[in-house]
Amino acid sequence: MESLWRKQTKEIRGRAQEADVKLDRTTWDVIVIGAGMAGILTAFYLQEAGKKVLVLEADRICGGQTEGTTAKITSQHGIKYSTLIKSVGMEAARGYALANEKAIREYEKLIKNREIDCQFERRTAYLYSLREKNSLVVEKRAALSMGIDVVTEDKGELPFQVKGVIGFPNQAQFSPLKFARNIAAELTILENCRVTELKEHLVIAEKKVFTAEKIVVATHYPIMDIPGFYFLRQHQSRSYVLALSGCKRIEGMYYGVDREGLSFRQAGDHLLLGGASHRTGENKKGGAYEYLEEMARKYYPNCQVEAKWSAQDCMPHDGIPFIGKYSFFTPNIYVITGFQKWGMTFSMIAALILRDEIMGTENTFGKIFNPQRFHLKASLPHLLTDVGVNIKSLTKALFTDKPSCAHLGCKLEWNPDEQSWECPCHGSRYTGEGKLVDNPSVKDLEE
Ligand SMILES: Cc1cc2nc3c(=O)[nH]c(=O)nc-3n(C[C@H](O)[C@H](O)[C@H](O)COP(=O)(O)OP(=O)(O)OC[C@H]3O[C@@H](n4cnc5c(N)ncnc54)[C@H](O)[C@@H]3O)c2cc1C
Repeated sequence: MESLWRKQTKEIRGRAQEADVKLDRTTWDVIVIGAGMAGILTAFYLQEAGKKVLVLEADRICGGQTEGTTAKITSQHGIKYSTLIKSVGMEAARGYALANEKAIREYEKLIKNREIDCQFERRTAYLYSLREKNSLVVEKRAALSMGIDVVTEDKGELPFQVKGVIGFPNQAQFSPLKFARNIAAELTILENCRVTELKEHLVIAEKKVFTAEKIVVATHYPIMDIPGFYFLRQHQSRSYVLALSGCKRIEGMYYGVDREGLSFRQAGDHLLLGGASHRTGENKKGGAYEYLEEMARKYYPNCQVEAKWSAQDCMPHDGIPFIGKYSFFTPNIYVITGFQKWGMTFSMIAALILRDEIMGTENTFGKIFNPQRFHLKASLPHLLTDVGVNIKSLTKALFTDKPSCAHLGCKLEWNPDEQSWECPCHGSRYTGEGKLVDNPSVKDLEE
């Protein structure tokens, strides 16, 4: 289903090419695979630094998860800093916070410099709970220790009473595809070009082979399993969004920290209401849109649903994205993944880190997001859960006639809300006819 952003911004085009056919006869400084927010920002900054860059996109520009975002640009990522301090320590937690704050400023600078008309607005990002305030008090203390300003006033904008609320002032929101349209116009992008294989310096896409000094895999979920082993380091989670008209306007951006918490933000005349998250492949009964519509009717009885859509994101075990060298064994291949539903700031962070790494400049934040790190304490519980899901799904695949995933053979589950087959292990998705929608798989089902 089409997002509000896509309804508003149909056409996003790369720089016009004399003839696409020449692209595979050129040796590129960098090939970026994937034209979502991460891919286009990385390509943009590398090109600005003087590199000759080609972007290869399986589908259309920003046709992946980026068109399904709610596009809050914020360092506030739920109950994050109190968790990170415990699991990975103060230094890494502070780096995470500073990198995200820098990303907000970088967006603002870029948007001002290029005069991009994309409704960039500074806003306060709030966390709220309907049940308790203790976790928010702890999170406030943690955020303050990161140097983030925190307010505790409840502006009373939400259509219910909250038990606790904290806000990070001076965060931002924007219209992501209007922004992307401006950035993509600078770039050489080949659409409808699915990459199926990578070798050092070679990118193989269907019948074409492209050559580059450096390769960046910005395909949302990495498409190469070995080396890197990202399929053992994260799973995917799906969430649903409604764009409503006829609601009271709100100023802040809100994220509910309770299990079934809802998110709210204003987007022009529309209110975006998000929630109903589940692990991809675990929505057998459906009802996600119905649930959100019920909440919309309850809280805004006069509202109309103008658009509805869903998207998914990668959830790394230690709660920190992977940005840097793909593996120890691939010095010229880089990866960007694991955004845990905060990919607007992380796309910017990734673009700046990879620009610096590829240009040979040290980046202060490179170490924190380095994919070769391993935080055992933070990762182990999630790793064990994932292993359990994989064993269950692979075993079921032996005993049912439901289709198996073309990636690693897990049993697919039908998501009635999206009319798609979904893999509970790693999150690949297919249409009812078996056509690939989301990776890590790179193949349709019938192949
Ligand atoms: C419901 C929801 C709400 C969200 N809200 C927010 C928010 O408010 N703020 C925030 O910061 N983040 C938010 N996020 C997260 C954010 O939207 C994502 O992290 C971000 O859009 C991911 O961008 P990406 O470029 O990594 O991935 P994508 O946009 O998916 O781009 C990857 C691209 O790679 C292409 N591709 C894949 N495989 C291949 C291949 N083999 N060959 C060539 N191309 C390929 C795909 O077609 C796609 O275009 C939200 C996520 C969800 C699910």
